[in-house]
Amino acid sequence: KSGFIAIIGRPNVGKSTFMNQMIGQKIAIMSDKAQTTRNRIQGVLTTDDAQIVFIDTPGIHKPKHRLGDFMVKVAEDTLNEVDAVLFMVNAKEGYGKGDQYILERLKQVNRPVFLLINKTDLVQPEEVLPLIDLYKDKYDFEEIFPISALEGNNMENLLDKLKEHI
Ligand code: GDP
Ligand code: MG
Repeated sequence: KSGFIAIIGRPNVGKSTFMNQMIGQKIAIMSDKAQTTRNRIQGVLTTDDAQIVFIDTPGIHKPKHRLGDFMVKVAEDTLNEVDAVLFMVNAKEGYGKGDQYILERLKQVNRPVFLLINKTDLVQPEEVLPLIDLYKDKYDFEEIFPISALEGNNMENLLDKLKEHI
């Protein structure tokens, strides 16, 4: 079994930390250099029953210039070609403009989208539920996973679910 998973989210939400936790330090650092305007391979996870290629799509962020519109379109096309999309947000910062922008773009995407609420180690458990409710209202997510990429919380459950979609 093999497949492609795209990961998107504002800068600093924890995407690289997530990749390091999923795949291992070395590969994620290596692939940081292989950046293109379209997308970049963050790493390849090989387990005994699956191989998953993780793709970062930096172009989905709000464009600062005209060429940016084109890059956003290319990024959207990428998202429609993967097996699933991971949209990562920051539990500590809550819902912001950058998240709103990405959610709007996700409306053009017809692949299953998982919401990862990261950095849950920085908030109280009771602060996570309102965030889940807020995001549920805004998008029809396949599933929502509160995680801590830093501490590795809930990553196993997520991986099992991703394997079902490849
Ligand atoms: P990226 O820009 O989305 O790739 O974000 P990074 O992975 O570079 O993370 C940005 C910062 O957030 C770094 O200082 C990380 O150590 C920190 N970070 C990432 N995930 C977590 C988490 O689950 N908990 C905490 N406390 N910090 C995190
Ligand atoms: Mg990064």
